[in-house]
Order: sequence, then structure tokens, then C-alpha cells
Amino acid sequence: MGGINKQPNQLLQSREQSGKALTPYDARKRTIEKWLHRFCRETINKACENVYPKFKKYNIDFPEIRYRNMISRWGSCQPKRNILTFNYQLIEAPMFCIEYVVTHEFTHFLYPNHSKLFYQQLSMFMPDWKDRKEVLERSSLLKE
Ligand SMILES: [Zn+2]
Repeated sequence: MGGINKQPNQLLQSREQSGKALTPYDARKRTIEKWLHRFCRETINKACENVYPKFKKYNIDFPEIRYRNMISRWGSCQPKRNILTFNYQLIEAPMFCIEYVVTHEFTHFLYPNHSKLFYQQLSMFMPDWKDRKEVLERSSLLKE
């Protein structure tokens, strides 16, 4: 018993000393987050590869894919730098919603804004994008 009681104090001490050691809870949380992030990158990279052939014919190079935790958006596109950034939280959404976000961001390589032409193009690539968007918004996964 004594040993069990002692452990958290020792961890707390060493954390204060080094600023690095984690409690068992934090260590576990970090492991799960790392795994979830890796799963997210693998899943979304694959979704990007699946969507890319539709865009290749418009002379778009396969972009650099980045990942971040974002508060209010699922993804973003920097057309001039050829970068797509996706929110790690997207992995919690259904696959058909992930495909919608990926297609939406790729379409920004053709139209960097949300103009009428952008939505016309998006509808061409993905005719049912509105349904997918609705499901994504209803899921309220984003913590705003
Ligand atoms: Zn957009």
C-alpha cells in the first residue's frame, strides 16, 4: 500500500524537478493521442490520394499535407504554397464527411475563395457535398 501511495508523490516531485515526467494518466493520454494522430494522418493521406486523380488533370501537383488541432475549421488550403492543412479532430467524423472536407480543400486549388464558381466546381466533383456537410455540422465535433 505504502508503495502505491508513494508513487504519485515521487512522480509529482520528479515532474517538478525535471518539468518532463508525466503522471500515469497523462502518459496514457499522450500515448492515445499519438496513436489517434497517426491514425488520422494515415486515413486522411489516403483520402487525399483517392481524391487527387480528379484534380491531377487540372495540372495540380499533389500537395503537402499538414495536420493541426484547430478550433473552428476542418481544413484549410494555401494554393500558392501547395499546402493543405487538416484538423486532427476530423478523424472523429464519418468517412464520407472526411472525403467531403478533402474534396472541398482540394477544390480551393482551382478557386481559392467561396465564389459561385467554387461551389459549381465542388458540385461537379461531389454532387452530394451538401448532405455530407450537413452531417458534419450536425455532429458538432468542433469545440467552438
Ligand atoms: Zn473553403
